[in-house]
Amino acid sequence: MVKCCVVGCTSGYKSNPEKIPQFCVPKDVKRREAWAKAIRRKDFILTEKHFVCFKHFREDDIIRYWKSGDIQIPYTKIKLNEEAVPSIFPGPKYLSKSSTKRKEPTVRCVIPKKIKFGDPEHLKRDVLNSEIPIENVSTNLKIHFNLFDEIASCSNLSSIIHWPLASPVCNNSIQNKYCFVSFCFGDYFPVIEKSVMVNKSGKITFGILGKEVSCTVLGIIPGENINLLADNIKEFEKVNICHGGPGIEEFPKMSSNLCTKSTTGRLKHNQCLQVIKTGSSACQRCRRLRNVLNMQKQRMVSGSRQLTQLSPTKKLAVNELRRVKNNLQKKCNRAKQCIVDLKLELNKVQNEMSKIGNESIKDK
Ligand SMILES: [Zn+2]
Ligand SMILES: [Zn+2]
Repeated sequence: MVKCCVVGCTSGYKSNPEKIPQFCVPKDVKRREAWAKAIRRKDFILTEKHFVCFKHFREDDIIRYWKSGDIQIPYTKIKLNEEAVPSIFPGPKYLSKSSTKRKEPTVRCVIPKKIKFGDPEHLKRDVLNSEIPIENVSTNLKIHFNLFDEIASCSNLSSIIHWPLASPVCNNSIQNKYCFVSFCFGDYFPVIEKSVMVNKSGKITFGILGKEVSCTVLGIIPGENINLLADNIKEFEKVNICHGGPGIEEFPKMSSNLCTKSTTGRLKHNQCLQVIKTGSSACQRCRRLRNVLNMQKQRMVSGSRQLTQLSPTKKLAVNELRRVKNNLQKKCNRAKQCIVDLKLELNKVQNEMSKIGNESIKDK
């Protein structure tokens, strides 16, 4: 966890269990100077390796959504606008310049039935430019944004969702569905990794990489009120999901009916277990996929003759069959030899018979 460099702020310190988003100090020298001036920490040189937490920014500084037309998708990691400078500081030592209070966010998420990315490149750019602390980038494939955590721990979840959803209290009567999503990197642009959808009647459904996943697979009991929904989101956040086995580029000619290409550009077993235990990157079926596909590839190369690996029981059976075959072959060879011998014998006898015949004619 990165620590906030503002004096008196404990965000990111072990003593403070709160999960507060942190922003990297800007690389741009002018912006960084503005930040340093605002923070006013004595004997301290602010560098781009430092972080300043969410608490020191006004709501206007923060960008929460990716927007395209009517579609708004909450960023999994909130970001700062270009001009943002920290302005809210703790303690009497500081006099916060701005008196603008952070206002409660109103509309959080408007999700049409199908989310369309108007401009995937744009979205990718947005996500890449967002102020993600380096620590959060674990692999080149998976960038974990803790959207669920942030939203679920948000004290005013009830301001986002009016439960029951069909209630007339709902400010945005057009909304009859709410969706929380988190992204991960796909082939060319971020793809939705996990999604939690609440429909009009309050039914909660979960999705992994664009496919609905049953609650039993996840081991989550869908909640019936807003607090339970928050719990569901938290629980789902913790679930480790399978991103698939080998990359599609490993098996470009793959024509197997065993697996499909997942949105992340990796091959997923058709019966992928979806959920995995910590410590592995894919479920056992997807992990085995590479071996299976390699075997198929080899068989194709060697013209399906070569059997590569057999289970011990099959090996025994094959050996037994080979033994029987060899025995029969030997028997067959012996029988053939017998035939040759008998033919020779027959010739001899016939010759003798003809000799006898000739002699008896001479005698007469
Ligand atoms: Zn702070
Ligand atoms: Zn899998």
